Amino acid sequence: MAPQMSEMKCRCGRNAMEWVSFIQKNSGRRFVRCANRVTPCRFWKWIDDPVSPLVPSAMDLNVKKSQRIVKFLGLVMAASLVVIFVFLRMCLRPL
Ligand SMILES: [Zn+2]
Repeated sequence: MAPQMSEMKCRCGRNAMEWVSFIQKNSGRRFVRCANRVTPCRFWKWIDDPVSPLVPSAMDLNVKKSQRIVKFLGLVMAASLVVIFVFLRMCLRPL
């Protein structure tokens, strides 16, 4: 997600940038950080309260869901390989 300009000023006196954390433990938590990419000051602060327990579990759920989809696709691929193999065997069977 693109950072947004924050109302807060960092130690350089510039407007700090607002970011969203994607680190597992703090998923979705916002923080502000110095907007200076080259020589940032040490300004850094959480702006949300600790995440509600719903956010990480919702993300977890998404991960599980996509793992299930990948597993399902793997099964479909394996099944179609078997079908193709059987089909070829039937076609190539000597008469
Ligand atoms: Zn700064």
